[in-house]
Amino acid sequence: MTFEDLNLNTPLYNALNDLGFTSPTPIQAEAFNVVNSGADMLGIAQTGTGKTFAYMLPVLKNLKFSTQETPRILILVPTRELVVQVVDEIEKLAKYMNTRVLGVYGGTNINTQKQAIANGLDILVATPGRFYDLALSRVLQLKSIQKLVIDEVDVMLDLGFRHQLINIFDILPEKRQNIMFSATMTQDVDVLINDFFKSPERVSIAVSGTPLENISQSRYNVANFNTKVNLLKHVLSDSESFNKVLIFVAHKKMADRLFEKLDETFHDELCVIHSNKTQNYRLRSIEQFRNGDNRILVATDVMARGLDIDYISHVINFDTPDYPENYMHRIGRTGRAERKGEAIVFSTESEQEFIENIEGLMKMGIPLLNFPENVEVSTELIEEERPKIKEHYNPIKRDETIGAAFHEKSEKNSQENKGGSYKFKIAAKYKKPKTRGDKNYNKRNKKK
Ligand code: AMP
Repeated sequence: MTFEDLNLNTPLYNALNDLGFTSPTPIQAEAFNVVNSGADMLGIAQTGTGKTFAYMLPVLKNLKFSTQETPRILILVPTRELVVQVVDEIEKLAKYMNTRVLGVYGGTNINTQKQAIANGLDILVATPGRFYDLALSRVLQLKSIQKLVIDEVDVMLDLGFRHQLINIFDILPEKRQNIMFSATMTQDVDVLINDFFKSPERVSIAVSGTPLENISQSRYNVANFNTKVNLLKHVLSDSESFNKVLIFVAHKKMADRLFEKLDETFHDELCVIHSNKTQNYRLRSIEQFRNGDNRILVATDVMARGLDIDYISHVINFDTPDYPENYMHRIGRTGRAERKGEAIVFSTESEQEFIENIEGLMKMGIPLLNFPENVEVSTELIEEERPKIKEHYNPIKRDETIGAAFHEKSEKNSQENKGGSYKFKIAAKYKKPKTRGDKNYNKRNKKK
């Protein structure tokens, strides 16, 4: 595909020409028609894939010259660095257009920004907090905003911007196009999308389901979190072959929890990165891991995304990613530049279906390793693993204003209504466990 196929206009062709870009990147080719049509879109693409132009090409193509002062396009990004970068990219692409672009972010004088807004603009690039402050100050009028772009939704949510975003949705004109980009699919992203958007069209550059041949993969079935910790300590004790190990966990709480557990044994060899750590802390951790001062790095998917580190001997998936694409991204951190790399994934019983999805995407099985005999199988469960006990009548918590009869009745009623979906729930609960390999292996091989 060439840029001609996108039917752009002369100013854009000239700008692309100056930049020396000859053909659209895959995400640009995929996203163009969707954004151009005015539909809501969720693009799954990482930085470096050309995602900024993926939304800017169709947006600029459709942005008519105007002298109106209030912005028509709002682009929200998580960090001030990204504000600067996106503004810079837009200015390059809009070089031959009379488009007024403004970038705003916190930590700088808001009055200067108010002045700049008052001068009139077409495209506003902003971090959520500063945008909201400007909107509340009424200097910034929102009624003309037609398109909202949210870049790096995963990072936004990881940084805790969920409520800020919801507040912003509230004050923006309802009739608008929503264009979102996320590098990783996470539960948080899924929930936000489902709660606030009507099934946006998903566009992603197909993650290659073909893992590199130089990465050897294996997996363990492990009973629970604490047993995973025991197994991890066991494999990490071989510091000669496990000499540069990147350990992935799904979210920051888990990263901290695992870090604490490993710190007892691997204090001097260990570092961690996730979004609750300061930028300086993260940079230091990454540097220590890169230069070999620390042998082990614990990271979340979202934060490890930009990592470009060579010579990683092992990627360990402490949990099994529920989005198979994340697994491909994770294991791709090793085996770079055709070096040999190893990827290991730990899965509990409840993660077996994720393994099936991953194997489905790759169209190959991941060899199952025997659980080592000398590793202790823990029976101690963490909070999330304990069965949730539904609280029935609790006299201490009783609401005195309602009276006892109400409680008796509602409890009785709740037990009666067992038709319909109840059957399915029970069936699902007691369905035959999906096992690959031997589910009782761990139990049988428990340390005697
Ligand atoms: P992004 O993923 O938006 O951060 O873009 C990554 C880099 O790729 C930026 O430096 C862009 O200027 C560049 N880029 C964007 N589109 C193209 C293209 N079609 N051909 C070559 N480079 C591009």
